[in-house]
Amino acid sequence: MNAPEHVTIHAATGRLSLTWRDGQTQWIDNATLRERCPCSTCRRLTHSDHAAQIDPQVAIVDMQPMGYGVQIVFSDGHAQGIYPWDYLAGFA
Ligand SMILES: [Zn+2]
Repeated sequence: MNAPEHVTIHAATGRLSLTWRDGQTQWIDNATLRERCPCSTCRRLTHSDHAAQIDPQVAIVDMQPMGYGVQIVFSDGHAQGIYPWDYLAGFA
């Protein structure tokens, strides 16, 4: 999986956009990203327990490119998740 050409934080609408090399643009809600955080702490929780902890207004405050993916820093202080590009591409 190639990295997207652009990854953009849209603070006003609470979404992230990924523009892939085939020209497709994918939009993912911040809360969806936070809910599907792939870090070991989040994966240990059941889906309902984890979802209950998520602020639906959670924002993305920073991103760090990691080569195979991106580390996302959320406004609730959670920054453990590194999202591989192929994982993000699979989001509906
Ligand atoms: Zn996590």
